Amino acid sequence: MGDVGKREDQSQASFDGESAAVLTRELRESFNLGKTRSFQWRSNQLKGLLRMMEEKEADIMGALYSDLAKPQLESYLHEISMAKESVTFAMKNLKSWMKPKKVGSQAATFPSSANIVPEPFGVVLIISAWNYPFLLSIDPVIGAIAAGNAVVLKPSEIAPATSSLFARLLPEYVDDLCIKVVEGAVVETTALLEQKWDKIFYTGNGRVGRIVMAAAAKHLTPVILELGGKSPVVVDSNVDLKVATKRIAVGKWGCSSGQACIAPDYIITTKSLAPKLLDSMKITLERFYGKEPLESSDLARIVNSNHFARLSKLLDDDLVSGKIVYGGKRDEKRLRIAPTLLLDVPEDSLIMKDEIFGPLLPIITVDKIEDSIGVINSRTKPLAAYLFTKDKKLEKMFVENVSAGGMSINETVLHLANKNLPFGGVGESGIGAYHGQFSFDAFSHKKAVLSRNFYGEVSARYPPYTARKQRI
Ligand code: NAD
Repeated sequence: MGDVGKREDQSQASFDGESAAVLTRELRESFNLGKTRSFQWRSNQLKGLLRMMEEKEADIMGALYSDLAKPQLESYLHEISMAKESVTFAMKNLKSWMKPKKVGSQAATFPSSANIVPEPFGVVLIISAWNYPFLLSIDPVIGAIAAGNAVVLKPSEIAPATSSLFARLLPEYVDDLCIKVVEGAVVETTALLEQKWDKIFYTGNGRVGRIVMAAAAKHLTPVILELGGKSPVVVDSNVDLKVATKRIAVGKWGCSSGQACIAPDYIITTKSLAPKLLDSMKITLERFYGKEPLESSDLARIVNSNHFARLSKLLDDDLVSGKIVYGGKRDEKRLRIAPTLLLDVPEDSLIMKDEIFGPLLPIITVDKIEDSIGVINSRTKPLAAYLFTKDKKLEKMFVENVSAGGMSINETVLHLANKNLPFGGVGESGIGAYHGQFSFDAFSHKKAVLSRNFYGEVSARYPPYTARKQRI
């Protein structure tokens, strides 16, 4: 198994506060020379990233396999292909995104013109997470470059193969005076966070999100926090169960074995539908992963032994004993956990407390499907919420009354793939959003510019404020 479970302690001991200070100083000097601002520079870097993905696809797939044993198709569809689409979309739209946007004027500013002019923040830090270690790193980098910033990427040490691949490849394909990779864990990230950045983009859990935000506050640096949460799936009784369960299963186990920020975390359904839903889920899971899912090559493994232990604890909780209705098998040596369904777990069980982030899916039941809205709203706001129903009234009620980062109706996770939709959390699931033009906007300051000529004088605005002027 070689690398399995290899992880977070591998820091670049040599990268300390002083190295971080030198790095940011050099980047600031490069940024101040102005070259990252030009269309040509931005476009060349984006082309470089695309070329990297085309020429090094096998290396990227290999790194993802080493880090998570991700099935090849998942690695390609969910990481490489999405990243290619992202960079192609940015290249196609860059000119128009960079253009000042003319806006209207009111009587008070007449005659004048007004424009919103996007400008890069400057030197930005991107800290990414391990579960989609390629996409979650490169996608914000694409936005930061498109917006004309100098960038430091700090990939996750928990996906060491992908992290070192970035460190090796990025300097080959992009301008390494303005785009840098720093590898490392807590020590290195802390050193980076002590510096003054013009924007920090962080993907990961809320505990570290708070550390990032506190560090940013010292320099009044704006942050984007892409966090997680418990994303619910509500299943109404009128749905096509076969289709619904396939879509739930692929959004859960087909996304890095549930180690995805918007993977369904728990299902809410009615007491009467639960047995049928459960049967349908079991049939679907057996079709997807066979009778021995621990042997399936279509399921990613758990990333490391710490996360394996964390997930095992959720299953070993006394409060859920007897609640496992499907799966439950584990193989600690190979870091594999079979798709597992639990029915009617108590609200105060560990599995219902924090985000699961793994292949376990509890189902809780309510008397009426409308009650699900109250259940969701009694918790912190999730990154995603899903509803399966044919009832348009329920759909409207759900969209209007459930607060979540994003939603898919009669689907799971797919809202993330539409570049015209912002991707981000709300409340505890995050601050800010990205994807498509939202990525460009996330890394751009929108400067308000009003411009006049020397005509159109209105004497009333100038002192002295005579009695006659005051009557106006
Ligand atoms: P992680 O352990 O890879 O940590 C994320 C980053 O934080 C890493 O780069 C790590 O080096 C850094 N870090 C860790 N501890 C730190 C500390 N004390 N100080 C400074 N930096 C530190 O990833 P994770 O947190 O396990 O990621 C899983 C979480 O991220 C889940 O909650 C998931 O929902 C969320 N997530 C969100 C998105 C999104 O797009 N919203 C995407 C993926 C994951």
